[in-house]
This record gives sequence, C-alpha cells and structure tokens, in this order.
Amino acid sequence: MLDQHFMIDEELLQRIVSAADLKKTDTILEIGSGTGNLTKLLVNKVKHVYVIEKDEKLLEELKKELKGENISFQNEDATQAKFPEFNKCVSNLPYTICEPLLWRFTRYKALCVFVVPHKFTEKLLGERPSRLKLLVDTFYNIEYLETIHPSAFSPQPKVQSALIKLTSKENNSFLREFLSQYDKKTKNALETILTKQGKTKSEAKNMIALKLRPKIQEQSILTLSLKEIEYIHKLFSNS
Ligand code: SAH
Repeated sequence: MLDQHFMIDEELLQRIVSAADLKKTDTILEIGSGTGNLTKLLVNKVKHVYVIEKDEKLLEELKKELKGENISFQNEDATQAKFPEFNKCVSNLPYTICEPLLWRFTRYKALCVFVVPHKFTEKLLGERPSRLKLLVDTFYNIEYLETIHPSAFSPQPKVQSALIKLTSKENNSFLREFLSQYDKKTKNALETILTKQGKTKSEAKNMIALKLRPKIQEQSILTLSLKEIEYIHKLFSNS
C-alpha cells in the first residue's frame, strides 16, 4: 500500500513550505517525495534535503530531475529506514504509516509539518484517551493549521486531510523516557531508566521483578495497552 496521492494545489504547497519557516541552515527530511511536488520547493531554500521514498521508479525519476541539487535519496520504507540527521521534517505523509512514524519521531526533537488524514488529527487532538493521545501529550505541541479538501490531490483521496505542525515538548518526564524506547521490551526500558537514576543493574532488575508480572515485563512497549502504560507509570515514576 503506497498511499500515492500527489499534491497539485500550488498555493497549498506554498503554505506548507511557509509553515516550516525554512532557513538556509535547515536540514530537511521528507518522507514520500512522490513526483517531487513538495521536494522541488524545499531544495535551494535550505542546506540539505533528505528524501525517503519507497517507490523505486518515482525516486529514480526525481533523482534525474534534481541531479546536482543539495539533496540525497533513500529508496526505503520510512518505518524501517535509518534516518539521517535533520532538524525539520516536511512531508505529505503516506497515510497508513502516520502512527508508526509519530512513534519514530519521539527520538528526534525536530519541527514537523505534516499533511495527514483529518480523522487522524481527531485522534491526536480529541478528548478520548488512547495510546496515541498519550504519545502526543507526552512529546508534542500540535498546531492544527488547515483542513484540506480531496481536490488538492491527484488522484483524490477518499477522505479530508489536514495540515498540522508539531513541535517537540521540552520535558524529561518518566513517560518521555519510557515511551521513546517504544520498540524495546518493558523490562529493558525500565532497567535503562532506573540505572540512569543511579540504581545498580541488579537493584533495577529486582525492583522490576517485584513490581511487574513476568508477562508484562517481556512485552514490547508498542504492544502495551493504555491501561498497562498508566499502571507502569504509576509504579515507577517516583522510584
Ligand atoms: N510528497 C508528494 C507525494 C505524497 S504521496 C506530494 O506531496 O505530492 C505519498 C508518497 O509516499 C508516495 O510517493 C508513496 O510512494 C510514498 N510512500 C508510501 N509508503 C511509504 C513508506 N512506507 N516509506 C516511504 N515512502 C512511502
């Protein structure tokens, strides 16, 4: 599933670029360059653009077109690819990978300007508690910039989209430390946090074994429910 909907609204493309407040010193990551509608507005305004695009054919075309520019290309799946160093991410995101990407971005303190499905913003900004909402509250400040009609794309998606801007929250909470280790086992993530707080490895291991059931210790953080994350937070945030 490649979620290929290319943005054809020139004015909207300009608004996306201006939301990123580009500087000559910026290093930009763009996920899913497609035919390069957005990419072409980014190069030359900044120091460097890194593109990660899964579709090899589209990427080869764009490489030819932008040969010699300040840009590098990775033909990979953005949920798996090694990210380069960047300070801003500007992307019309592939809609099916928005959530895994938000988890990945927890490890980078970058400014993000994203086009995402409108329904996804309801999850991020809504009242209903969820893991995604907890993730957002822990890591990001979100600005909802505008709603985007399907006619801004070709081919048109079935749903409304939205332009959002995320900035990284400055805090060092337990949840931040814990959730940014999203792909690790719960016990390993907790051990890292506890040893950073000055406990020895064996003290940390004992404490985790005493407080948590074995099954939950072995689970990857990404598979924990909201309730389980809240439970762990309560048990360990003041340890
Ligand atoms: N930025 C372009 C294209 C957006 S469409 C524009 O605004 O017009 C989304 C793009 O993401 C497509 O080119 C698609 O091939 C690419 N894509 C889809 N899944 C991807 C993934 N997992 N990793 C990287 N790119 C992906």
